[in-house]
Amino acid sequence: MRFLQLLTLLSLLLLVIVPPTSATFYTNVSSIPPSHLLNATRSAWETFSKLAGCHVGDKAEGLSKLKQYFRRFGYISSSVADNNFTDDFDDVLKSAITTYQNNFNLKSTGKLDAPTLQQIVKPRCGNPDIISDMNAGKKLRTVARYSFFPGKPKWPKKNRELTYAFVPRNNLTEEVKNVFARAFTRWADVTPLNFTRSESVVGADIVIGFFAGEHGDGEPFDGPMGTLAHASSPPTGMFHLDGEEDWLISGEDVNRRKILPVTSVVDLESVAVHEIGHLLGLGHSSVEDAIMYPAIAGGDRKVELAKDDIEGIQRLYGDGSSGRRSETSGGDEFGGGLVFRLSLIVTCMLLVCW
Ligand SMILES: [Zn+2]
Ligand SMILES: [Zn+2]
Repeated sequence: MRFLQLLTLLSLLLLVIVPPTSATFYTNVSSIPPSHLLNATRSAWETFSKLAGCHVGDKAEGLSKLKQYFRRFGYISSSVADNNFTDDFDDVLKSAITTYQNNFNLKSTGKLDAPTLQQIVKPRCGNPDIISDMNAGKKLRTVARYSFFPGKPKWPKKNRELTYAFVPRNNLTEEVKNVFARAFTRWADVTPLNFTRSESVVGADIVIGFFAGEHGDGEPFDGPMGTLAHASSPPTGMFHLDGEEDWLISGEDVNRRKILPVTSVVDLESVAVHEIGHLLGLGHSSVEDAIMYPAIAGGDRKVELAKDDIEGIQRLYGDGSSGRRSETSGGDEFGGGLVFRLSLIVTCMLLVCW
């Protein structure tokens, strides 16, 4: 317990020394500048598109960067150092692509075909999908549905009333804060959990902040598109969003999956609902309709929990109805499921820094 208190204290110190950024928020679709509506090529990942058609045996500039991408999201073992990556299309890359294709329900070709590249360049959550088992010889696992963090952490039973607070220096408007309130409600509706906004980050269970680039936890943001946000597993409660994205905060068109045909503006509530899933203990899912699916295209809006999300969260907390709470104990972790390293990284970074 003392360790958790220390971690919370260090997290607050992080907020003090790392300046948050001021993100851009658009209150409705019509306020988005025309230059952003058809601009889907602002992401650095778009350069991967030129690798189309590459397969084993090829050598092409950019393949080493693609290997870093796959390493970041767990498809290449983290024990392989970035500087060992070459521009050779080797068997390691082929294996990573094949696993990725399986996770994203793509045809398993092991090649950089068009559908695979289209998926790779989509903006997505910064949390990894899979982690390679550090024990030699074990293979990467493929995700099929909801999953949990290793050890299946969740908020303790005595803590069903969770508080959240915003980093003060973001100076968020009530309109922006209300987007998060709506997102929390979606999870509260299907669990025994309740979420209350706190005006102070001190003592809050969950702290929400927009940051740009490197912000002290070893998981730097990358500017427009690319990674959008990341969050820690329970009970750390750190929820970071990329302050260099353009965010849409409109609650309109709730039932419309696609807001705009192509845009580099990201729907904030969609990302918030996803990251709260992590904060409560869920990992990524390969079910495309699920909130916990890792990617979302610019202009997409997905805020309704899918059956897969609800089944996953209720395995952790029950359904919230009195008398039939069905919290599970122990753990089927879905064959190992997804493994997240973020909170560990945060912990290590903070302990090293102080
Ligand atoms: Zn995620
Ligand atoms: Zn972060």
